[in-house]
Amino acid sequence: MKLHEYQSKLIFSKYGIPIPKGRVAATAEAARQIAQELGGRAVIKAQVLVGGRGKAGGIKVAKDPNDAEQLATQILSMEIKGLPVRKVLVDEAASIETEIYLGITNDRAARRPVMMASAAGGVDIEEVARETPEKIIKVHIDPLLGLRDYQTRDIAAGIDLPRELWRDFNAIALALWKAYSENDATLAEINPLIINKEKKLVALDGKMLIDDNAMFRHADLAELRDIDEEAPAETEARKYGLSYIKLDGTIGCMVNGAGLAMTSMDVIKLFGGEPANFLDIGGGAGADKVAAAMKIILTDPNVKAVLFNIFGGITRCDEVAKGILVAMDEVKPKVPMVVRLVGTNAEEGRKLLENAHMITAETLADAAQKAVKAATK
Ligand code: GDP
Ligand code: MN
Repeated sequence: MKLHEYQSKLIFSKYGIPIPKGRVAATAEAARQIAQELGGRAVIKAQVLVGGRGKAGGIKVAKDPNDAEQLATQILSMEIKGLPVRKVLVDEAASIETEIYLGITNDRAARRPVMMASAAGGVDIEEVARETPEKIIKVHIDPLLGLRDYQTRDIAAGIDLPRELWRDFNAIALALWKAYSENDATLAEINPLIINKEKKLVALDGKMLIDDNAMFRHADLAELRDIDEEAPAETEARKYGLSYIKLDGTIGCMVNGAGLAMTSMDVIKLFGGEPANFLDIGGGAGADKVAAAMKIILTDPNVKAVLFNIFGGITRCDEVAKGILVAMDEVKPKVPMVVRLVGTNAEEGRKLLENAHMITAETLADAAQKAVKAATK
């Protein structure tokens, strides 16, 4: 789950990281009010769950409350990378001397979290990582020992941080680690962490990703989920316990098992097609879950054909077939559908589908080729 900038910064602040004064607003009038309270000058920041807001024009500095209202009107009517802006953060405007990058994520290869920092912070950290990776300092964190003081000193030295800021930097880095580990985050990032004119460190931007698998022990964080920002299909999929990721292709995929789903997508690509989604209905899915999955696939207007690849183990093929029939009845799909059923009760399943005008296939290769052909007609 992605958190908004204002949500991430509030969490950081709870752990003692200095953030600018400010509040979130849903209307231009409210933005004016907040700017007024902040003393006039303020920065208006679009709250959307995508990066690069600054470059897209979603961050503007207002010189007074009138200006804040006007800029907020403008930003609240924007779409950034397809997402409408529904809220803006109105923050005290900062005077920036230096922009630092500081973040923690999981390094899967090293099997532990890694703290990364760079003196070349700001909007283009991805470019820094690509072109001058030596400018990014990395320190792995032992998950049991946590981040150690000597490590934060190594980082401070590595990014040439002025000595007089080392103590504050140490506190911020430790707080970020605490925020990361206690909230089961997979990313906690401050970009930029600035040195302002008063020579103080302040977190100007914040970003957190929370591990969805840990949500059950963070009821407070679950409330922060912004359904408006999610594709409706993803909200729907979560409700039914389906793993669904929308992609850009034309062949909808319904598969039981993550590995089998990956394989199906690979084989579709092998035969020249593009999958429209990753979808794992999981083991033992009953008819209702299958019907929900099918509705999700078919609401994507890019879908020109659907491939069902079901390996009946715990999941029974006849149950899946029943689900498909229920969904067909409700959704009345107009796109061709290719089905490959093997395993438990495959014969019964196939019989159920025989009258439903579906294209059947024996092997995955056969099914993928038929789906690719059906999608390009
Ligand atoms: P992002 O583009 O989504 O990462 O948004 P950020 O919050 O990181 O802002 C992008 C850039 O806008 C920062 O790197 C700063 O250069 C600039 N910026 C953000 N807030 C302020 C501010 O209060 N004052 C000034 N002068 N610049 C700001
Ligand atoms: Mn940023």
